[in-house]
Amino acid sequence: MMKYNDRIAVAVSGGKDSLSLLYILAKIERNFPKASLVAISVDEGVRGYRGKAIRMAAENCKKLGIEHCIVSFKEFYGYTQDDVVRRLKKGDKTELTPCAYCGVLRRKALNIAAREVRANKVATAHTLDDETQTILLNILHGDPLRIAREKPLTDVVHPDLVQRIKPFCEIPERETTLYAYIKKIKFQDAPCPYASQAIRNDIRLFLNRMEYRHAGTKFTVFKSIEKIRPAIEKIVTRVELNKCSECGEPTNERTCKACQMLQQLSVL
Ligand code: SF4
Ligand code: ZN
Repeated sequence: MMKYNDRIAVAVSGGKDSLSLLYILAKIERNFPKASLVAISVDEGVRGYRGKAIRMAAENCKKLGIEHCIVSFKEFYGYTQDDVVRRLKKGDKTELTPCAYCGVLRRKALNIAAREVRANKVATAHTLDDETQTILLNILHGDPLRIAREKPLTDVVHPDLVQRIKPFCEIPERETTLYAYIKKIKFQDAPCPYASQAIRNDIRLFLNRMEYRHAGTKFTVFKSIEKIRPAIEKIVTRVELNKCSECGEPTNERTCKACQMLQQLSVL
């Protein structure tokens, strides 16, 4: 996933997984003088939650001597995640959860920020747990072909889309948590107030129960998908990416998903 001369933007939310990743990459990077790290935190604007997490991220970056770049939904889109949720409630739009909006908007903000700091890779702290949950989510949403795109090291498909890596994809969340405790890393441990609305929670519970009763279930799901992904990739037709008609970012539609969502929100 990583090369000796990479400039890696680490997505740091201020939670245990992303801070453990930052500590481990900082440790590795010391042996590679041509490589560099920069931390990026996206402030979604969730009152009483994200502010503390960003402070934790900043404190840890300072301790490690890593450059820290903070961007926000407000500056990028004019809305905080709290505004998004308020509008969703007003419009009685229930088909997508707040996290669905947050995920799309964060991904775009992270990519733009990574480009601005001249990173050639974005590292996210998705663990084995996150990966297996996403696999099942894609299947439950009837979108299994998505599995082709969401892999631990993404393909370079457009010069404006920074390649994404997931160095923790085979590490169970319990181990990244343990690492954070052993290293006495200060992190944000409160959950986001909107997290409970996500279908992902039910999948997490299911997978944890399976893992408890049948140890190794998560690895099996992950490895099974690794085996069948090349076959899925063969049947997925790769479309040319265009520039979004609104923001100019790469998209396979006329308007990118983030701009579509923002347009939807503006009329609620
Ligand atoms: Fe965004 Fe959902 Fe995560 Fe909260 S739990 S920060 S709303 S993706
Ligand atoms: Zn757009």
